[in-house]
Amino acid sequence: MFQTSLRHQVTSTMRIVLLGAPGSGKGTQAQRLQAKYGVPQVSSGDLLRDAVARGTELGLKAKAAMDAGQLVSDDVVLGLIRERLGRPDAKAGFILDGFPRNSDQANALNEMLIELGAPIEAVLLMDVRTETLVKRLAGRRICRTCGRVFNISLSPPGTTPRCDHCADHPELYQRPDDKEEVVAKRLEVYEAQTRPLIRHYQKLGLLRVVKGEGALEDVFARMEAAALPQAQAASTRKSAAIKKKTVKTARSAKKAAARVAKKKASGKQAARKSTAKARRPAKTAKKKVAAKRAKGSKRAVRGKVALARSSRKAAKKK
Ligand code: AMP
Repeated sequence: MFQTSLRHQVTSTMRIVLLGAPGSGKGTQAQRLQAKYGVPQVSSGDLLRDAVARGTELGLKAKAAMDAGQLVSDDVVLGLIRERLGRPDAKAGFILDGFPRNSDQANALNEMLIELGAPIEAVLLMDVRTETLVKRLAGRRICRTCGRVFNISLSPPGTTPRCDHCADHPELYQRPDDKEEVVAKRLEVYEAQTRPLIRHYQKLGLLRVVKGEGALEDVFARMEAAALPQAQAASTRKSAAIKKKTVKTARSAKKAAARVAKKKASGKQAARKSTAKARRPAKTAKKKVAAKRAKGSKRAVRGKVALARSSRKAAKKK
């Protein structure tokens, strides 16, 4: 739907629920979080609308309730959510938008996430005044091509609302359940069935209230701030563990290198010693040879002297 360049994506895990009345901006903010953090938006409303558009059995079951602004039966919604959370991209996390919508769904979600070993990190309640909700829902228009959401209260009066993101500027459409009479019913259903979940998640210590009015960017910044302490804490823990491991590895590598260097040094010393030792006998041998030679020459001298002496004696006798 809302396509944003992956260049700006931040890698992080995020398992959050967006809670809020129809028109509180859950879908818009979920799309932005998805684009920035690469975590899929899981919208029960989108899944149901897709099933209706494809004319599936579930879609046919859901259509009448949706058109009347009522909740679709839990078994239909749970089936769709279970299948969606089981897809590979949801392993990185999920931004649940419009689900759970009553306490039975909240309990079923809890069990589902225990099974998946992926508990919710935070529930973000988008706090918006009722008059703003009505204005937003009545003026909401959607592009069929790219799925972007617009509000005609921001367009110049008397113009046909068109998508300014798509090349052929297609005309925008109004969701059937955004018609005034259905909007009133949806808000009533929210008050009766969904609002009690605020207390439920508050008790669990998961609830964060986000002011959902004001500029889109400001609301998004508040959403991030509310969603990220948990997500960042998890990724910080992860990177701290990686860092610890890296330091440990570096330390043991350093130790190993020191050991090798020590071994090398003692090897060199030993080699020096053995060369010296090897040289020593050579020196001794040389000395011995020299001594032998000296001894030999002494003996030869002595022999020569004796010979000279005896020849002198013989000459005297004559
Ligand atoms: P949404 O797009 O979230 O406003 O949902 C549009 C309509 O889909 C609702 O008015 C309900 O009829 C139906 N729907 C969406 N989510 C749920 C849900 N969790 N449980 C039951 N019905 C839902």
